[in-house]
Amino acid sequence: MTDLLDTARALDAADPLGAHLDAFLDAPGVTAYLDGNSLGRPLRDIPEKLAAFVREDWGTRLIRSWDEQWMALPMELGDRIGRVALGAAAGQTVVADSTSVLIYKLLRAALGAAGEGRTELVMEAGNFPTDRFLAEGVAAEAGMTLRWLEPDPVRGVTIADVEAVVSERTALVSLSHVDYRSGALSDMPGITAAVHEAGALMMWDLCHSAGVIPTQLDAWGVDMAVGCTYKYLNGGPGSPAFAYLRHDLQGLLRQPIQGWWSAADIFAMGPEYAPSGDIRQLLSGTPPVTSMLAMQGMLDLIEQATIDGVRAKSSSLTDLAVRGYDEVLAPLGVRLLSPRDPDLRGSHVTIGHPDFREVTQRLWADGIIPDFRFPDGIRLGLSPLSTSHVETITGILAVRDALESHGR
Ligand SMILES: *Cc1c(COP(=O)(O)O)cnc(C)c1O
Repeated sequence: MTDLLDTARALDAADPLGAHLDAFLDAPGVTAYLDGNSLGRPLRDIPEKLAAFVREDWGTRLIRSWDEQWMALPMELGDRIGRVALGAAAGQTVVADSTSVLIYKLLRAALGAAGEGRTELVMEAGNFPTDRFLAEGVAAEAGMTLRWLEPDPVRGVTIADVEAVVSERTALVSLSHVDYRSGALSDMPGITAAVHEAGALMMWDLCHSAGVIPTQLDAWGVDMAVGCTYKYLNGGPGSPAFAYLRHDLQGLLRQPIQGWWSAADIFAMGPEYAPSGDIRQLLSGTPPVTSMLAMQGMLDLIEQATIDGVRAKSSSLTDLAVRGYDEVLAPLGVRLLSPRDPDLRGSHVTIGHPDFREVTQRLWADGIIPDFRFPDGIRLGLSPLSTSHVETITGILAVRDALESHGR
């Protein structure tokens, strides 16, 4: 058995993206940050960029900055995310609100446009709580039936699972691309095609894949998508989300939070609302400009590394985590709760053990930061541009040590 740390060092030495590790701010006392899937790290130049923004763009240009740059920012940034990470041509993606609010807008818009007899919304029973709660509320509001999909919790949703529930009654299917618990990666083109075959619309939640798993939203015919920017796009706590709405649906769907920013002419200040004909129709009110700053540097970095390069490193990191699991954690009775096949996995690996709540507390106290997910899972989130192979194995070995000393 080669030493795991030696293997990790060799992989880091050969890592074509290794130089980017230094682009992130140091976190004193943290030896392994394994939660970039929940909150990405800030880039090293963020403090200076924020200060310059306050001094110049806001402090000196004052309200002139709206005309000079901020009015167009939600659309420009959306186009950049689309180009760098999503496989989406310009004019179909905006940055706004939170993921939860954008899910609400798109679900409501899709159900509002459903054809005669299409009365069902399909959602996975294990989806992230906000997605499920919103679907419940929107189905009730629209007088529709919510149909739950119950896939294998480790393997995630398959095409067959979807084919088994869609019918001529389905209006919309809404799923996560990468499962927030298991990390299971769904077959986006295959599932989207199956949903279209049934005559329904497809919406993808990209929170755990945007910026780490390449997609081809246009080529795969995806209708709608939403995602976070504070996970693998490192936009900072509460940075606004993005929404994608396919070009040819933009004239057909109406989102429910119709504000002045989604109106055909923002400054007409007219008596009645008419929606903008372009992607701006998904906005509602004044965008959070300050919170759109940090993600811009990360998009530059992903563009340099390329999304395919980021994905390759992600697979290398999760492969090593699974290998470390096999060698030192499986013998201690730890369960692997993520798919073994790297092609079926996003960028985090989840492991389970009844002692993990206490183990996580010990790890955090020692500067090893994964996250704990009820009932007994630890997620090792491996954000490729900011995480090394050595950091990954340091985390695995620390879980082993904490588990062994906890058992004593
Ligand atoms: C992180 C995450 C969210 C978060 O939604 P917010 O509105 O930003 O709190 C939603 N859905 C999924 C699948 C997530 O992973």
